[in-house]
Amino acid sequence: MYVDSHCHLDFPDLAAREDEVLATMAANDVGTALCISVKLEDFPRVLGLAERHPQLWASVGVHPDNADCDEPDVARLVALADHLKVVAIGETGLDYYWQKDAPEWQRARFRTHIRAARETGKPLIIHTRSAADDTLRLMREENAGEAGGVMHCFTESWDVAAGALELGFYISFSGIVTFRNAKDLKEVARRVPLDRLLIETDSPYLAPVPHRGKTNEPGWVVHVAEELARLRDEPLETIAAATTDNFFRLFSHAQRPA
Ligand SMILES: [Zn+2]
Ligand SMILES: [Zn+2]
Repeated sequence: MYVDSHCHLDFPDLAAREDEVLATMAANDVGTALCISVKLEDFPRVLGLAERHPQLWASVGVHPDNADCDEPDVARLVALADHLKVVAIGETGLDYYWQKDAPEWQRARFRTHIRAARETGKPLIIHTRSAADDTLRLMREENAGEAGGVMHCFTESWDVAAGALELGFYISFSGIVTFRNAKDLKEVARRVPLDRLLIETDSPYLAPVPHRGKTNEPGWVVHVAEELARLRDEPLETIAAATTDNFFRLFSHAQRPA
């Protein structure tokens, strides 16, 4: 069995094909997927997916790219996370690629999420782009290691991975690791300890080879696992078992299917 640790099934392209997307998941032995919240306004849709389907789980949080939206405080996130199907806080983090002026509100919002994760005991889903130093600095300042979590859709250097691993975090690879030009990232993927490895699609974005350019979906996380097996010279079953075990160890509020 495989687990997609990060997908956006509530986004229109996937929501319109809910049954078909779930059927492809089942056909590819992807037994569980975590649906990620990016805005409080859309959180009911994310939670609805998790409530309708036993194999889906939800996170609650506001993405750093969303500027003009409902701004959460710690108490609000804690209250929304108090639900059996909400197993994580995020996605949160910093993104200075789309917000080139590195606004203070991104860092304040990130700190809010880390505090909510520590309070709820539910782990963090961290997005970082062009902001690795500040991301690690805030994680350390706010004691994010106490909550734990994952660096999702990892695209940074080995040094950044090592910093996150030192805080007890997991590293999740997306379809980007299958891209031919992702040479440095492939090196990082060889070095992450097996017991800290996760896989994801970040669908509908970033479809892995051989589907590159299409609308991605959770069933295709298998291709990320295949690439990791190839890069690390480990059997595919080893990658599947380890990433599944790691998922349920980290997201301990999610129930493993029988
Ligand atoms: Zn992200
Ligand atoms: Zn995402």
